[in-house]
Amino acid sequence: MMVLTKKMIEIRSILQKVGQSSSLTLPSIVVIGSQSSGKSSVLEAIVGHEFLPKGNNMVTRRPIELTLVNTPDSPEEYGEFPDLGLRKISDFSSIQRTLTELNMAVSDAECVSHDPIHLTIYSRNVPDLSLIDLPGYIQVVGQNQPLQLKQKISELCDRYIQPPNVILAISAADVDLANSAALRASRRVDPRGERTIGVITKMDLVDPARGATILNDTQYPLRLGYVGVVSKAPTSQGLFKMGSSDLLSTIAKNENSFFSSHPLEFGPDAGVNVGTINLRKTLMRVLEQTMSSSLQSTSDAIRQELEEATYEFKVQYNDRPLSAESYLAESLDAFKHSFKQFTEGFGRPEMHELLKSELDQKVLDLLASRYWNKPVTDLAPAKYDLDNIADLPKADPDSLYWRRQLDASTSALTKLGVGRLATTVIASSLQAHVDKLLTNSSFVSHPFAKKAIVEAASTILNERFYSTSDQVENCIKPFKFDIEIDEREWNHGREHVSSVLKKELQDCEAALTSLEPAVGGRRKLKEVMAFIDKARKGDITVEGDGRSGAGGFSAALLSKGREAVFLRDRADIIKMRMLAVKAKQCNNPKNKYYCPEVFLDAAATKLASTAVLFLNVELLSEFYYNFPRELDLRLGRHLSADEVEKFAKEDPKIRRHLDVIRKKELLELVLEKMDSLRQLEGRDRENGANG
Ligand code: GDP
Repeated sequence: MMVLTKKMIEIRSILQKVGQSSSLTLPSIVVIGSQSSGKSSVLEAIVGHEFLPKGNNMVTRRPIELTLVNTPDSPEEYGEFPDLGLRKISDFSSIQRTLTELNMAVSDAECVSHDPIHLTIYSRNVPDLSLIDLPGYIQVVGQNQPLQLKQKISELCDRYIQPPNVILAISAADVDLANSAALRASRRVDPRGERTIGVITKMDLVDPARGATILNDTQYPLRLGYVGVVSKAPTSQGLFKMGSSDLLSTIAKNENSFFSSHPLEFGPDAGVNVGTINLRKTLMRVLEQTMSSSLQSTSDAIRQELEEATYEFKVQYNDRPLSAESYLAESLDAFKHSFKQFTEGFGRPEMHELLKSELDQKVLDLLASRYWNKPVTDLAPAKYDLDNIADLPKADPDSLYWRRQLDASTSALTKLGVGRLATTVIASSLQAHVDKLLTNSSFVSHPFAKKAIVEAASTILNERFYSTSDQVENCIKPFKFDIEIDEREWNHGREHVSSVLKKELQDCEAALTSLEPAVGGRRKLKEVMAFIDKARKGDITVEGDGRSGAGGFSAALLSKGREAVFLRDRADIIKMRMLAVKAKQCNNPKNKYYCPEVFLDAAATKLASTAVLFLNVELLSEFYYNFPRELDLRLGRHLSADEVEKFAKEDPKIRRHLDVIRKKELLELVLEKMDSLRQLEGRDRENGANG
């Protein structure tokens, strides 16, 4: 029973997952031969299918590491390219096409590559074997081929024909053995002919007596002997593509009729080994024996590899266990924890503050357009006496004008779309906080998870957006008709708006100062401002339209000057209004027409407080409740094992850590398997000896 080869092939596929190191290579049968020696025909006969690239133009350019897996219980026959993720290809002409493409991907200039193609074929008609097909040796270098091609092919083959591999040296019967490139190469690495099987193809092309002499060759004696084959299917059937699984039996039948018609040379008493079926048996037996005798050295190599992995795990990772799942779970927990902490510090007061400062800006805009809107940007003579900045029309509660001003401002404030504004402000703030938490989390180096988390947040926020903003808009509706401000609210507004105005003044003054260097210093700015002031009062006439330059100032300078004058006047007005707010006339809600700043500030506070009540219920609590659950959904149970793995390995540090652990585990597994194989082997040998 050929269990060992099968087991060892399984072990090899595990080792390949670890990232095969050369020390761990298990024995294979390496097929070498000159071009056209019949190498492909032999391999295809063994597999029972046509599947290798065909053509004259150096079609084998890369090693093909072919694994045959015998599947006695399944009628299915198929191939797989594990490196390409191509599974279960049952059409062998498609395998052939893929192999051709993979080989032709190596350029004409390069011609051969050391990078192997891995192909596994599963069938109940194949034996368990591991074979390596190599580019054929060439005699002369072709026109478009690199000069060193002969050398390159020979070097590539030399890499593979090292022990413990078995060499299958293919030579054609119609070529003198002394000229066989395959035997010459094998001789160099296996001078005593201990691990070389000679295959003589094209036996049908030579006289039987001569054929028999070749098989008994004494010039290149091989311990494992020579096998003679005729691996070309008869041409009568060649016109129609054969039912491919019949390839081996057709060849075998053909060989049988050929060899049995020369019993003297090839019969049972002739003492020669002929036929593809016999070749297959020889390969199985030899590989099994080779596997058996390399068990010890392979075990030793694996043990050493394992020791290295264990050492690395200890030194680099402190023996810290890690799996992709546990890494994801820990990262997710940590992130949820940081989110929880954030929620504890972000509630109604924080929302109120955000919202209020947004509304403060709106109030300032309203004040500026309704109350501070002196026409100061024009070069035309001023309508107002700007020297006396307090020259605003006197605020008179009985004046219809002032009533309308305040009513219009209040209405503009309540109707600016507070619902949408408030919801936007809070939603963007939440999103920004999530981004910040992400930056400080271990997810920062995981684009996949980062995206999932950002999307989790935006999904919830988007879902809640319209209903929340509608609710907020609804609940501030009464304020659109009437706003009652009591004394406490008034005082608070008065205090607060003072600080808002102060900040605005500072900004204004800073903006003014920042213009100085742009015009060439403070003096220059003052000059141009003075010019503009004069022009506005009509003291001087400005020729032209004022845009192309006047008074010896360039248009650009005048434009900066106008900006400066505007800022200075704005600052003056703000200063005046700050005094007004502080003054006695503003100490009471009854005087709201004197003090639109205080009234609008208090109104904005009312809007913010009301909005926050609903934002809290409709948006914040919902978000706090759903976000962690959404995270679980997107990054928890719903991810496949592959996705979790992919996630964890996005971080190179984690990837290395996981790789070491995986390598260690796989090597442990392999070693365990090897040990039990060796025990099995030991028992078999004992039984053999006793029996
Ligand atoms: P490779 O270049 O070494 O892979 O050789 P192939 O397997 O492609 O064979 C080269 C040529 O020899 C093809 O035309 C085959 O049909 C032919 N050939 C292969 N084996 C035999 C054989 O046993 N007898 C005969 N007569 N021709 C063969």
